[in-house]
Amino acid sequence: MADSKVRVRFAPSPTGALHIGGVRTALYNYLFARQHGGEFIFRIEDTDSSRFVPGAEEYILESFRWLGIPFDEGVGFGGDHGPYRQSERRAIYKEYVRQLLENGKAYIAFDTPQELETRRKEVPNFQYDATTRGSMRNSLTLPKDEVERMIAAGEQYVVRFKVEPGEDVHVNDLIRGDVVINSSILDDKVLYKSADELPTYHLANIVDDHLMEVTHVIRGEEWLPSAPLHVLLYRAFGWEDTMPRFAHLPLLLKPDGKGKLSKRDGDRLGFPVFPLEWHDPKTGEVSSGYRESGYLPEAVLNFLALLGWNPGTDQEIMSLDEMVRLFDITKCSKAGAKFDYVKGLWFNREYILKKDNMELAPAFDKILRENGIEEPLERVAAVVGMMKMKKINFIKELWPLCDFFFIAPETYSREDKFVRKNWTETATADMTELAALLEQLDDFSVESQKAVVDRWAEETGKKPWNPWRVALVGTGKGPDMYELSAFLGKEETLRRMRKAVDTLK
Ligand code: GLU
Repeated sequence: MADSKVRVRFAPSPTGALHIGGVRTALYNYLFARQHGGEFIFRIEDTDSSRFVPGAEEYILESFRWLGIPFDEGVGFGGDHGPYRQSERRAIYKEYVRQLLENGKAYIAFDTPQELETRRKEVPNFQYDATTRGSMRNSLTLPKDEVERMIAAGEQYVVRFKVEPGEDVHVNDLIRGDVVINSSILDDKVLYKSADELPTYHLANIVDDHLMEVTHVIRGEEWLPSAPLHVLLYRAFGWEDTMPRFAHLPLLLKPDGKGKLSKRDGDRLGFPVFPLEWHDPKTGEVSSGYRESGYLPEAVLNFLALLGWNPGTDQEIMSLDEMVRLFDITKCSKAGAKFDYVKGLWFNREYILKKDNMELAPAFDKILRENGIEEPLERVAAVVGMMKMKKINFIKELWPLCDFFFIAPETYSREDKFVRKNWTETATADMTELAALLEQLDDFSVESQKAVVDRWAEETGKKPWNPWRVALVGTGKGPDMYELSAFLGKEETLRRMRKAVDTLK
C-alpha cells in the first residue's frame, strides 16, 4: 500500500449541474494526483436511476474541459479499469453482493416500505440494526426455504449489510485524524435492491474504489458519516490491506453567515454556484455559470484552491503548477470555508491583468460585435491592453469604458462637467493649432506625436490634454491621449478634432 501508485477519483452522480464545491473537490484530487505522480479517475455514480438527469454527465465533462483539469482515465478518457459508469457494472456488483451474502456479512430483507413506515411510527427513532433486525422479515428470521420461495415468486427484496454492534470503528482521515464511531449507532444499510437490480451508492462506491485501485478518497465533508460504514465494508470483503486513506474536505459556507453554501445564496447575492450555465431539463430554469459570467478558468481555480487550504504564506496568486507544488492535503482546514465571492471577483481582476491581451480579445470582440462593431482582433487586443487596468472585474465591463475607441463622439454636451470645465475660451484656437501640428506628422506613433506635441506644449505653455480629450472622447474618460490618437490614426484623430472645433466654437 505505502509504495503503491497514487490513484484518486472524482465520482459525481449525474443528478444536475455540478456544484462549485464539487469543482473544488475535483481540483484537490487533481493537485494530489499530480504532486504524487499519480492518476486521476473520472467515475460516474449513476446507480440511483430516480435521480438521473440527462445532460448532467456531459455538463460535468465540459466543465472540466473549460477549467483545464484533465483526467487520466474514466468516462470519456478510457483506461483498463472500466467501465467507469456504474450503471454499466451491474454484473460486477451482483457478484460482490453474492459474496457478502455467502459469508454472512449481509442478509436479505423483505420488509415493504409500508411495513417499515409502520415500524417507524410505533418505535421512536427506529433503526434497522442488531436490536431490531430479529423482529423484521428477513433471511435471519425466516426459514431458508421460505426465503427461497419468496425470491422465486418474484417478491421484491433488498440486501442489507449486517453491522455488528459495539465496536469502535476508526476512520483514519488525513485532515481530521483518527475519527472514531461506535458501530452501534450505524444502521444495516441497504446495499442492493432487487427492484432495479442495482447496488446502492455505498456498495458500488466501495467495490469500485477497490477494483479501480483507489489509494486515497478525497471528498466533501458530507460523506464523513458514510466513512465508518465504508471501512466496515472494506473489512467485510477482506480488503483492509488496500483500504484507501480518507480525506474529508471542509464544507463551503454561506458568504454572509453560518450554514452550507446553497444555490439560493448565489441567487440572493448575485454570484454563480455552477461552473457553467445550466439549463435544467426538468424545470426549464436557467442558472448562471462562472464561464458565462465572464470569469477566467484560472481565476476560478485559484479562488477555489484557497477555500479550505492555504500554502502557509500570504501568497494568493498561483498557477496550477504552483498549486501542484505547494498543495498539502494534511494542511486543509477542518472548519468550513466561507465562500467569499467578492474575493472571487478580485481573483478575476488579477488574472485579467496577468493574461495576454490577445487571449482576452475574443471575449471583448464578442461584445463589440453585439454592438455592431467589427475590428481586427489585434486592434481589439490593443484596446483591452490600454483599458484593462481600469478596475474592471470582467471583460464585459470594458464596453462602456471603451466605446469611443470605435464610435466618434457626436455631441459634446455642455451638461457634461468635463466638457464645460475643459473646453475653455482658448480651446478652439489651441485645438486648431494642435491639429495643424499633427497633420505634419508622417509617423503617427505615440513616440513621434509625443516628441512634437510635448515640445509645443512646453514652448507655448499650453495645456492641450483635456480639450483634446473632449474632442476625441467627448467626455472625461479613456487612456493616455497619445495612445488613443495613435490607435485612432491620423485621419480619424484630425476628423474628430475638426468636428469638435466646428461644434463647440
Ligand atoms: N457519488 C458521490 C457524489 O456524488 C461520491 C462520493 C464519494 O466521493 O465517495 O459526490
